[in-house]
Amino acid sequence: MRKAKASLLRPFLKSIILTSLVWFMLCFCGSERILAEREPIYRYTVIPDEKGQFITVHADLKLQGSVPYLKDFGQMESIHWFVGDREISVKSRRIGDIISFSDLPARGEVKVIYRLKCVTESRPGYRKRLMGFSNFVLVREGLFLGIEGLASKFVDISWRLPSGWTLVLGGEGLQRFVETQKTLWVAGKTAQLTEEKVGDKFFRIGIIEGVYDVDLTDAITTLKSIFNKAWNDCGQLDAKNFGIAVVPSKSIGGGTSLGFTIISENNWITIVHEMLHWWTNRHSPAWFREGVHTYISAKILTRLGLLSQDQFDSFLQECLNEHNEVVEREGELNTLAESSDNYDNRKGGGDIYGLMPVFAYKLDREIHSYNPGANLDLVFAAVCQKRHQKLDILALIKEITGYDPGPLFEKYFYSRVQDVSGLLK
Ligand SMILES: [Zn+2]
Repeated sequence: MRKAKASLLRPFLKSIILTSLVWFMLCFCGSERILAEREPIYRYTVIPDEKGQFITVHADLKLQGSVPYLKDFGQMESIHWFVGDREISVKSRRIGDIISFSDLPARGEVKVIYRLKCVTESRPGYRKRLMGFSNFVLVREGLFLGIEGLASKFVDISWRLPSGWTLVLGGEGLQRFVETQKTLWVAGKTAQLTEEKVGDKFFRIGIIEGVYDVDLTDAITTLKSIFNKAWNDCGQLDAKNFGIAVVPSKSIGGGTSLGFTIISENNWITIVHEMLHWWTNRHSPAWFREGVHTYISAKILTRLGLLSQDQFDSFLQECLNEHNEVVEREGELNTLAESSDNYDNRKGGGDIYGLMPVFAYKLDREIHSYNPGANLDLVFAAVCQKRHQKLDILALIKEITGYDPGPLFEKYFYSRVQDVSGLLK
């Protein structure tokens, strides 16, 4: 009997063993493959000096027959290559912003130590690629030595920071090389640093020491609530990490952004303006994309109390001053319609930041007095929501608010505005 039972089980036993074996191989080889894919091809340790004069990077590379390059924007001070403890000589050739290296071993592990000199003073026209100050550094994509054709491979990043510093923008650990190129990297001494989770996304704000003009806690609360409100009103975004670094005035010379990261001096209108660009409808014309956009940024800040009514009034005054300067600079008074086209065709159009926000202010009040339940904010949110579409914005205003903006546009947008006082009434 026993024998019969065993022989009955035998075919099942066989298939059980076979199935387990197949499963085991699938699981083992699969995870092996995933592990191999996530095995970083480079490791970088980034070491800023505490005066922000230079940044040293230690990179461990696994060469695979390809050519390393460094987009240093002309800031590389020195570079040394090692195989084991032995320094090797490597040829370098600069083409514009990029240095490429040759005469390296085709395969194997190489250690590289390079030092980048920071730009320590803002100067007109400098595009804020690699800057350093006594309490922070700012770098773009050129920090990391790359290897052609391997952008999708994983790299491992760590920062060794002076005491009291933190990494404000950019993240440590394993990531694809291509991701390192899509964010600003900012490290420094922060007066305030917070990170908020919105769904599965992270929104980080770091305020570097030396920003004193407002209550920093209030500023952070305001920025967070603008982010959350835009997230709800203007639509969700694809990225995972969002970040803003605020630095003292007269340090970097304004602001800059890359992907979903922003660094700016403490001009709150600029910061909010840049942040709201995350939701911009790129198909909308300049008068809306930049002009209405600028007005809405100032309006939100005033509503939330980070700008006082007086500051809002001076904002309008500054726009009018800019308008006068634009007319002088461009040698003629254009209609806002012409300015918008000129801006989009990269031929001036400075009034998009001059008269246009003041016209937006008028438009907002006209909408609101026609329909107290509506305002320009609703239109702004709707245009952002439909940001992948080209829209007829005037028709949209009518549709959303009931107000027909045609006559107002005829008077102040399609005609030359000789007397700006009508816009402020
Ligand atoms: Zn803008």
